Amino acid sequence: AKSNGLNMFRFFQSDMHHSKLQRLKLETDLQRAIGNQELEVYFQPQIHIESGHLYGVEALLRWHHPNLGMVPPSKFIPLAEECGMICRLDLWVLESACRMYSKWQSQHIDMGKISVNMSAANFYSFKFAESIESTLKKFGVNPKMLTLEITESVLLTDIPGISQELGKLRELGVNLSVDDFGTGYSSLSYLKKLPINEIKLDKNFINDVDSNSEDQALVGSIINIGQILKHTVVAEGVETKEQLQTLKALGCNVAQGYLHARPMPEQALIDWYHQDTA
Ligand code: C2E
Ligand code: CA
Ligand code: CA
Ligand code: CA
Repeated sequence: AKSNGLNMFRFFQSDMHHSKLQRLKLETDLQRAIGNQELEVYFQPQIHIESGHLYGVEALLRWHHPNLGMVPPSKFIPLAEECGMICRLDLWVLESACRMYSKWQSQHIDMGKISVNMSAANFYSFKFAESIESTLKKFGVNPKMLTLEITESVLLTDIPGISQELGKLRELGVNLSVDDFGTGYSSLSYLKKLPINEIKLDKNFINDVDSNSEDQALVGSIINIGQILKHTVVAEGVETKEQLQTLKALGCNVAQGYLHARPMPEQALIDWYHQDTA
């Protein structure tokens, strides 16, 4: 038994060592990924529930690793946040999304709003609003067509100057959305304080919304709060017709999820768009 324990110890030790090395490797790989064209922006449509029309698209980052294949964002976004690369990644996504958006405009393709995720670190950087503004100008994108998705946990953290930066963006016309709404802790007071105009209900609330009466009441209440504050309410992770019907009855504005379309590369999005509007 003693030698067995020792083996176990060695096993764990080498395993831990291994995963640390793997992380380090992944980090250097990520540094290289931008220049190497391993990153790609996918887009997922958002549908206006009442009309069935396209409301917008969310940009979601994908990493095609040369050896590992597709690395999911749940693996590399936290890594990028830890190693201080996330601002560069988010800016790269914003630039790519704006570049494509202006190309779509020139081809008379109306994708509605374009939504980009912004991690917390961006808000610690000086002149955040200005860098967003200059990117929009560079690509000739109307600020009213851009939505920045900011996770609720960021808005609940007391980042110095964040409400001023957000205020500047709202004045420009940029839309501000609370991502993963309902997953942070309770205080709702920030909803009144911060200049946001959209909330995105986390998928966790949507999963059983058609069958679970508690979830239904909760989602209904959140939608009511959204209506009172005149925010657009977007439900994420809508997979079934039943969920959509329930959300519609509860007054939810926009649905995003596999029911309508999965996140897809740009060309697939354009094909989807032409099929949908044909
Ligand atoms: P999120 O912002 O909450 O994005 C929604 C996630 O749910 C996406 O996962 C999307 O593909 C997935 N999803 C959409 N509809 C459905 C559905 O009907 N069913 C299921 N099961 N899933 C659905 P994804 O693309 O893997 O991204 C995961 C997370 O990574 C995102 O969560 C976001 O927090 C982060 N992320 C992705 N791209 C970026 C980026 O460019 N910057 C930053 N900072 N974070 C990003
Ligand atoms: Ca999001
Ligand atoms: Ca989410
Ligand atoms: Ca998220």
